[in-house]
Amino acid sequence: MTVTVATLGFPRIGPRRELKHALEAHWAGKASEVELLDAASGLRTAAWARQKALGADWLPANDFSLYDHVLDTSMMLGAIPERYRSADGEAALATYFAMARGTTGGHDGCGHGSVTACEMTKWFDTNYHYLVPELAAGQKLALNRLKVVDEYREAKAQGYATRPVLLGPVTWLSLAKGRGVDPFEMLDEVLGLYAAILGQLAHAGAEWVQIDEPVLVLDLDEKQRRALTRAYAKLSRSGPKLMLATYFGGLGDNLSFAAALPVAGLHVDLERAPEQLEPLLKAAPKSLLLSLGVVDGRNVWRSDLEALLDRLEPVAATRDLVLAPSCSLLHVPVDLALETKLGEVAEWLAFAVQKIEELAVLKRALNEGRGSVADQLARSASANASRKASPLVHNPAVAARAAAVTEAMGERQADISERAAAQAAVLDLPAFPTTTIGSFPQTAEVRNARARRNRGELDAVSYEAFLREETERTIRWQEEVGLDMLVHGEFERNDMVQYFGEQLSGFAFTVNGWVQSYGSRCVRPPILYGDVSRPQPMTVEWWRYAQSLTDKPVKGMLTGPVTILNWSFVRDDQPRADSCKQIALAIRDEVADLEAAGCKAIQIDEAALREGLPLRRGDWAAYLDWAVAAFRLSAAGVGDATQIHTHMCYSEFNDILPAIGAMDADVISIETARSQMELLEGFAAYRYPGAIGPGVYDIHAPRVPGEDEMVALMQLAQQHLRPEQLWVNPDCGLKTRKWDEVKPAIEAMVAAARTLRASA
Ligand code: GLN
Ligand code: ZN
Repeated sequence: MTVTVATLGFPRIGPRRELKHALEAHWAGKASEVELLDAASGLRTAAWARQKALGADWLPANDFSLYDHVLDTSMMLGAIPERYRSADGEAALATYFAMARGTTGGHDGCGHGSVTACEMTKWFDTNYHYLVPELAAGQKLALNRLKVVDEYREAKAQGYATRPVLLGPVTWLSLAKGRGVDPFEMLDEVLGLYAAILGQLAHAGAEWVQIDEPVLVLDLDEKQRRALTRAYAKLSRSGPKLMLATYFGGLGDNLSFAAALPVAGLHVDLERAPEQLEPLLKAAPKSLLLSLGVVDGRNVWRSDLEALLDRLEPVAATRDLVLAPSCSLLHVPVDLALETKLGEVAEWLAFAVQKIEELAVLKRALNEGRGSVADQLARSASANASRKASPLVHNPAVAARAAAVTEAMGERQADISERAAAQAAVLDLPAFPTTTIGSFPQTAEVRNARARRNRGELDAVSYEAFLREETERTIRWQEEVGLDMLVHGEFERNDMVQYFGEQLSGFAFTVNGWVQSYGSRCVRPPILYGDVSRPQPMTVEWWRYAQSLTDKPVKGMLTGPVTILNWSFVRDDQPRADSCKQIALAIRDEVADLEAAGCKAIQIDEAALREGLPLRRGDWAAYLDWAVAAFRLSAAGVGDATQIHTHMCYSEFNDILPAIGAMDADVISIETARSQMELLEGFAAYRYPGAIGPGVYDIHAPRVPGEDEMVALMQLAQQHLRPEQLWVNPDCGLKTRKWDEVKPAIEAMVAAARTLRASA
C-alpha cells in the first residue's frame, strides 16, 4: 500500500507578505494591473516549487487568491450583485476589488461610482474573513472568470500536475445571503456551472479535483443534506475524480453520510477529531481514497511523529493513504526559518513549510520503515521532550494558583443594582453618560514613532515623552468636548492583544509569522507557549498619568482573557480553558492594581468572546461556561464601587444573551449603529439588568454622523431599555479613524447626550 502527501492549500501572502505589498501598491496607483498579476504569478510559482521540493505529491492549484477564495467562487459563478455591474465587464479586476473593498467613486471608482463592499465575516472558527456571497431573487448566474482552469494550466505549463481546489457548491450556498430568495433555490443552476467547470478541468488534464465542503463538520439541516446528495451524485460524473475535503472539526453525525457520498476520496480532520479515524475506517469502502489530516493546520506546534506513526502504521498496512495537514495551511505562518527571535521556543514549532516536512517524514516512515527516517524522528522526539520538560513552559506557582481558584473568586460582593448605587455615588455621572471605547486615532505620526522605536532610531525616553504628549492632548480634548468618562487613548499599544502578550510571561512573538486576516491584511498572532504570569503591572502607569491630568474619571483599559486566548496561537498540551484561566488570573492582578491606584472604572474588552463559539451548537455550553468564568475571575476581585465595563464589537447576541448576562459586568458597550438598535430587543426580552452603551457612531466608515441621527438611535434604544441603563458611546475604538472625523463625530455625540438629558 502506498502513502502520499497532499497539501490542501498553501499560504498566499508569501513568506514576506509580498502579496500585501503588491496589492497595496496597485490600489495606491503605484503598480499597474500587469505588475500585480506578475507578482501574484511569481508567488504561485514559488509556492508550487516549494511544496514540491518539500515532498508534497499532491499540489493544490487555485488555492491562491488575490483577495479571498469565497469571492473568487462568487466571481466564477457570476454571482455579482447589481451594484457592481459596470461597463468594465464582469471579469474585470476592478469589479473584483469593488466587491472586496467598495469604491469611493471618482477617480478610483473605475466606473462603479460609490459602492460599499460586500459584507465580510469570519470563515468558520478561524480569524480569516471571507466576503459573503449575495444572491438576489431572479438573479442569473453564468460562468465568468475561470481562474481555476487558468491556474491549473499555469502550473501545468511549469511542469506541475496539480489537484485544483474548488470551494464546494453546498458550502458556498450555505455561506450565501439571499435577498428575497433562498440561495438553495439556485442549487441546480449552481451545480450546472460546477459540472461545466469540472468538465473544463478534465479537458485541461486534471485527474483529480479537491472540493472543499467544510459544512460537513457542522450541524446540517435536511436541506443541506439533500443538496449534498444531489450535488455529488451529479459532480462525481462530471470528469475528474473528486477529493471531498472536510475540516475544522469531526464529521460527527454526518460521518456515514459523508463516507457514502459517491466521491473518489475523502479528507478528514484528525487533529480536531482524532476519534473519527476508527468509525471512518469502518464506514469507508476500500475504493474511497482517504486523506488524513494528521498535522495541525490551525496551530503552530510540531507534531508528535512517533505517536502518529503508531496510529497510522496499521491503517497504511491495509489501504492507500494520503497524509495532509488538517486543513489548508492558509491559517499558519509560512516559514519558521525566517524567525530569529524565538530562542528555545522555535524548536517546538512548525509553520507551513515545516508541516509539509513532517508529512514527508511520516510518508517515508510508512512506505520504507521508520529506520529510513530515524534521524528526523529522533530530532522530532527530542524537541517534543524538551518542550514537555521545559521550565519555560511549566511554572509550578502558576499551576498551584490556578488549581486554587474557587467559584467565589468570580463573584462580586453585591448584586448589580446595589453596585450601581455604590458606583453612582463615587462617579457622579449625568444621565446618558458619554464615553468612548478606548483608542483614539493611531495617526501616521504615532505609528511612525513606534516603528522608529522598534528599529532603535528613537530612544525609550523620547518615545515615552512623545506618547505622553499624545495622551495629554487627548485628555485635554476629551475634557474640552465634554465627555463624561475619559480614556487615555491607547497610543502606547500596537495591538490590543500583542500589547498584553508582550508583557506577560508565557507568550512569544514572531518577526515574520504573518497570517492572512483578509485581503492584504495580515496579523501576527502571539504564541502562547507556557504558564502565564504577570511579572509587573502592565497599564497602571499610563492610567495614573492620564488620571493625573484631569478630574474626570479615566477608565482603565484592559483586554480580557478570552480575547487574548482567541487571538493567539495557544498551547495544545492543556485545555484552552486552563490557559484562559491563567490569563484571567494575570488580568485579575492588573485589575486589582488599577483599583489600588485609585481607578474607579475598568474596562475589560472581550471583543473575541463570541467568535470563539464552537462550530457545533452542542459544544457551546461548555465553551461559554469556562469563557464566562474566566471573564468573571478577571473582573470580580474589585469592590462594589468599582465599575467594571466590558466591550464587544459585534451584534449577534441573541443566542448568547444568558452568557453575556452571566458575565455580570456593570456596563457593556456593543456595536449597534448599523442595526438600528434592533438587538436591544433581545436584551430587553432577557431583562438585562446592567447598563448598556449601544454604539451610536459607526466607526467602520469615514462618515461623520450628525447629532440628530444619534439622538434618534438613542430614542430607539429607549424603546427597549430604561433611560438609566443607557450610556452614549461609539461602536468601537477610534484607532482606525482620523482626528478630523473623530472630532466632529464625538462633538455631535456629546451634543446628542445633552439633548437627551434635556428632554428626559
Ligand atoms: N479598547 C479597544 C479600542 O478601543 C477595543 C478594540 C476592539 O474592541 N476591537 O481600540
Ligand atoms: Zn470593538
